[in-house]
Amino acid sequence: MVKDFVSNATLLIASFSMLGLIFKNKPLHFSSPLSTRIYWGLCFGILGNILMSFSIQVDSRSIADLRHLAIVIAAAFGGYVPAMISAVLIAIGRIVLSGFSETSLLPSLGSLLIGITCGGISLLHFNRALKAFLMNLCGLFIISIMFIMIIDDKEILKHVLTIHYLISLIGGFIAYHFFVFVVDSNDAHNQLKHSVIKLKETEERFRLIAEYSSDMITMHNERTEYIYISPAVKEIIHFEYPELLGKKMEYFIHPDDIERTNEMFERALHKGVAESTYRYCSKLGDYVWIESTLKSVHFQEDGSKKVIIVSRNITDRKLTEQKLQEANELLNRLSYMDGLTGIANRRYFDETLAKEWLNSFSANSPITLLMFDIDYFKKFNDTYGHLTGDFCLQSIAQAIKKIITEALGYTLCRYGGEEFAIILPASNIEEGIKLAHQIQETIGSLKIPHSSSEIADFVTLSIGLASLIPTSSSKSQELIKMADSALYLSKTKGRNSISINQ
Ligand code: GH3
Ligand code: MG
Ligand code: MG
Repeated sequence: MVKDFVSNATLLIASFSMLGLIFKNKPLHFSSPLSTRIYWGLCFGILGNILMSFSIQVDSRSIADLRHLAIVIAAAFGGYVPAMISAVLIAIGRIVLSGFSETSLLPSLGSLLIGITCGGISLLHFNRALKAFLMNLCGLFIISIMFIMIIDDKEILKHVLTIHYLISLIGGFIAYHFFVFVVDSNDAHNQLKHSVIKLKETEERFRLIAEYSSDMITMHNERTEYIYISPAVKEIIHFEYPELLGKKMEYFIHPDDIERTNEMFERALHKGVAESTYRYCSKLGDYVWIESTLKSVHFQEDGSKKVIIVSRNITDRKLTEQKLQEANELLNRLSYMDGLTGIANRRYFDETLAKEWLNSFSANSPITLLMFDIDYFKKFNDTYGHLTGDFCLQSIAQAIKKIITEALGYTLCRYGGEEFAIILPASNIEEGIKLAHQIQETIGSLKIPHSSSEIADFVTLSIGLASLIPTSSSKSQELIKMADSALYLSKTKGRNSISINQ
């Protein structure tokens, strides 16, 4: 008996394995397509018939078989449809094998009843293992009724039923758990298959994105060597795809930008992301401006880190930015420049004086202001015309600009009309007087004729000087007022002179 039982159990396991392989892509579930459930129902029906032929010889008087387990497994995993198909096939098989008689009709009806009962239980909502156990018990119960109807001897009946229950419960346990294994393996296989397909699709999608992107996408190992380059490389830096493979990125970077790009690469490797703009030497030998976003990727397969760089050519943008910056600088310079004389204007004077005043206050050092005015300039205009007057203003401004020591921070400005001012930061009155004499000498040497001047034949200047050490209560306007009064004094003294107010 044990031998028969082992061969039946082996038959079940072998059949399940084979069916599992055949229907690898059609696993049996309640939700499987109807066609799949029909295939499985037919297979379980054939299996039931085979099990029926390989019955277990319990003893010399009685036999048992595991055919109802085919219906139980079909119902537990596939529901009503495979359960009924297998039950009908087993019922037909029983009549075909034993011929149409009362003894073959009863087991056939029994199979149908087991099919209906198991199908019904499959519709209930509870645990699948429990449902299979209940189906097995119900099947056994129906078989028991048939045995009661056939066997009159109580002793034999008891013996047959005991053996039948034992074999069926052990067989059912083995069959159920092996089929769970088959179904799970098939599900895992299908999941893997789908994952591989999805992965291939994703890979294809990303390959297309990389290859059709107008941005250049490159991948680098930790030594910055190129290991992937998208086709946009030709458009952006004019290299052919394989030319860069294995080469270090830094070979192509402008020397001034190498340090920055190396830092950017390290930052991407250790912090995940980085951005940078730099100059890249294209195959044509010229430098193009590149804007790059870097992202590090960790590959679990070999534990390596790679950096993906998305780059675009921003040379045109950089040129526009550069032009804009130059235009802004020019605009800025012009807004501080006097249009006629080309030296700093009153606005620049006000801002510079305020700044230097604060500096002197912080350093507790003197600041000197020199103001000068052309003598009898109205008469000059009247005599020589306004245009010659303009030229005279330009000549004086340019001549004085030349003797101003910019290294000392002196600033020459047109204060207004024919009046000029020089700021001498960190300078005392003596330095101012020295400069005032230099100015008078310079203007004297210009010898600009002024026939209507009441004091000389040439253009002369009146100069006023003032010097202060700024305090917390004093203001820069005081210094202007003092220098202006000194200039007024020079005018009243007879012009072409230097006056000091301190
Ligand atoms: P003073 O010796 O007292 O300074 O006499 P002044 O004639 O020089 O002074 P006043 O203030 O009477 O006249 C200044 C003149 O400077 C009047 C104005 O036409 C002239 N002026 C001011 N700005 C300009 C300019 O940009 N170009 C020209 N050509 N003349 C100017
Ligand atoms: Mg004047
Ligand atoms: Mg004046």
